[in-house]
Amino acid sequence: MGIYSELGVEPVINAAGTYTVLGGSRMSAETIAAMAEAAQDFVLIRDLQTKVHAEIARLTRNEAAYVSNGAATGLYLAVAAAVERLRGKRFYDITREEVVCCNVVMFRAHRNPYDLVIGHLGAQYREIAFPNIILPPTPDDLARAIDGNTAAVYFTTTSWVPPGFLPLETTISIAKKKGVPVIVDAAANLPPLENLWAFTEMGADAVLFSGGKDLCGPQASGLMVGSKPFLDIVASIGFPNYGIGRMMKVGREEMIGLYSAVKQYVNMDHAARERWCEEQIRMLSDGLASHRRLRVERVYPNEAGQPIARAFVELADSFGSAEDLRNYLLANSPPIHAFSEGRQGVFINPMSLREGEMTVIIERLSAF
Ligand SMILES: *Cc1c(COP(=O)(O)O)cnc(C)c1O
Repeated sequence: MGIYSELGVEPVINAAGTYTVLGGSRMSAETIAAMAEAAQDFVLIRDLQTKVHAEIARLTRNEAAYVSNGAATGLYLAVAAAVERLRGKRFYDITREEVVCCNVVMFRAHRNPYDLVIGHLGAQYREIAFPNIILPPTPDDLARAIDGNTAAVYFTTTSWVPPGFLPLETTISIAKKKGVPVIVDAAANLPPLENLWAFTEMGADAVLFSGGKDLCGPQASGLMVGSKPFLDIVASIGFPNYGIGRMMKVGREEMIGLYSAVKQYVNMDHAARERWCEEQIRMLSDGLASHRRLRVERVYPNEAGQPIARAFVELADSFGSAEDLRNYLLANSPPIHAFSEGRQGVFINPMSLREGEMTVIIERLSAF
């Protein structure tokens, strides 16, 4: 009996993408083997961290890297490092009051549920501009918002933000002039591979990626890349140090797992993978070509702004709602998980599918 059936949990076909609530992504056999091997022996954690961080920095063309247990944790630690830098003393010795008077400047359009960790650390959000195009922010708006209590400027490169922010380059140049670090949340911005170094080359001090999304590392891992002085502070606050870092344990299995995953990711044939995804969409399109109720459309880029195509399967109005179609896909075995995103149909994202699963999806949709 499989471990999931022992627990009465049924595996689903993930046609949605790298969604954490579905498990994010699949580790490769090589990554799983590396983690299993790592679990067999004891090592000095600080020694392992030093080596893993240096090696990941080299692989990702960065000055420094840090492995946390998620991009959200990375953001929390990066803001703590920014507070330490501003206050000029160890985060360990900083009082609650000294954190609370720090602010993090960000565009209102960039507010999102992942940034809640900034408030939980205790820093204030200094939101600027409006999340629309009526009154676009000027470089002056940003410059004026930064004051002596600004620990960092926060920026997210995710695709689902509304208009109302300056480009990252402009944001970085203004923050640099004021001597304030820029923290970039790029958790789901892989692919393209180049993003692993593009934002740091622009001058960002810390850039966060999820280890459990397209990097296909362990679910409970996150990658931070950035400048050496800034990430040295992060490393002095994060696990295994006492204080906030102690709550954010990163096991040797996760460190090795993410190291292995990054190594594979930078050496992977990304063009071949894009072609595979296109082929899956063609299969779906051909398979449903004569369907009476459904029509397949190729959509590019995907919901996360990643340069990979996905398909939208549109349901003709007279044959029910998107919810009916979603429920139908979930109600049969194996359940197929796909999102509607408010449209009349479902999106089928090939990124998280494995060989053969598209055939199951085509058969299921054919019978609808
Ligand atoms: C997924 C995501 C995160 C969180 O990443 P974890 O590695 O799961 O902590 C943060 N920010 C954005 C924009 C994301 O898409």
